[in-house]
Amino acid sequence: MVQQVTREQFDEFMVPVYAPAPFIPVRAEGSRLWDQQGNEYIDFAGGIAVNALGHAHPALREALAEQAAKLWHTGNGYTNEPILQLARQITEATFADKVFFCNSGAEANEAALKLARKYAHDQSDGDKSQIIAFNNAFHGRTLFTVSTGGQPAYSRDFAPLPPQIDHVTFNDLESVRAVMSEKTCAVIVEPIQGEGGVIPASPAFLQGLRTLCDQFNALLIFDEVQTGVGRTGDLYAYQHYGVVPDILTTAKALGGGFPIGAMLTTARIATHFTPGTHGTTYGGNALAGAVAGCAFSLINTPEMLAGVKHRHALFVAQLDELNHHLGLFRDIRGMGLLIGCELNEAHAGKAKLISQRAAQEGVMILIAGAGVVRFAPALNIPEEDIREGLSRLKRACEALIAEGAL
Ligand SMILES: *Cc1c(COP(=O)(O)O)cnc(C)c1O
Repeated sequence: MVQQVTREQFDEFMVPVYAPAPFIPVRAEGSRLWDQQGNEYIDFAGGIAVNALGHAHPALREALAEQAAKLWHTGNGYTNEPILQLARQITEATFADKVFFCNSGAEANEAALKLARKYAHDQSDGDKSQIIAFNNAFHGRTLFTVSTGGQPAYSRDFAPLPPQIDHVTFNDLESVRAVMSEKTCAVIVEPIQGEGGVIPASPAFLQGLRTLCDQFNALLIFDEVQTGVGRTGDLYAYQHYGVVPDILTTAKALGGGFPIGAMLTTARIATHFTPGTHGTTYGGNALAGAVAGCAFSLINTPEMLAGVKHRHALFVAQLDELNHHLGLFRDIRGMGLLIGCELNEAHAGKAKLISQRAAQEGVMILIAGAGVVRFAPALNIPEEDIREGLSRLKRACEALIAEGAL
């Protein structure tokens, strides 16, 4: 007899860095999931902005199964066809000439930061090392990326941290100018701060960063791990802003649910990484390349991207309606299918509570800090699922209000 798997086993066997929901999803299709008890959930979380084409997409399943029968992994002593095809797709669709593949967003940012340091050191006497980052930013959990991120709660327990990283105020060009100099090697920024509360950069801010980086011969790194691959309604957010970075990182939606990350850059900058300077065993494996290649070709179409903008409008109109009745949010913001609702003062700090109750009512949502409810559903989520999911969310909020918890 097969032993029953239960949520209690998480607390028994797993290093407690997460506090997962009390139920265990076992099956999913499109934008709906079912748990062990057969309860249904509408998925507005998308596996944290990852499942860009929903669950169990037929084309992705086929790409995975087909590649699984051929070749999984060789290590980087050999290249493979799927990853070369993906690299061509990405470079044709973006500013980049060159791609480095890895397995996660943090690794993509780690590669970007290391490349920026090496690029600077190759042309200076080694003191061009300063990295400028932003308060509340999120760039991953390796020591370098967590130090670059702007949430001390995530980094301070791991000190000593890598030096020469300065944090200034997002959307405030003056605060950047105040610390920037010829010693600046890179500025790293999310075009929309995702984990930090779904806060879009202003166009003038990103444009100003570009100008400052050019002035001080520093590299501009866009962390598009969350905003990339169609999430905002453009393939990458930099295309919406019309500001071209020197290095761009992408992960999350890139594999449509299969782990893969990438760092994109120009040919000129890429020459500063040479054989032996950086690497990863799994990076650019054939399975990830096959699935991501399929996902990329399905997402990078005018119809899919227009569909994201259309769904944004639907989503926000219905959130406005919900808010008109319940008065919970002081701001509804974001781009494409990355949407954040900031709770008003009376309900500040209740985002987690709302997400937990929402799951009980059959809709999975995300939070972005204690005061922002966040949505990052599949880019192809059916309109009916948007309607049904938001009506479940409304029921959850009404129940909390009735109980005096909101
Ligand atoms: C999620 C995220 C990361 C980290 O990606 P991982 O795959 O978890 O390592 C980095 N930057 C941004 C903007 C993210 O949203």
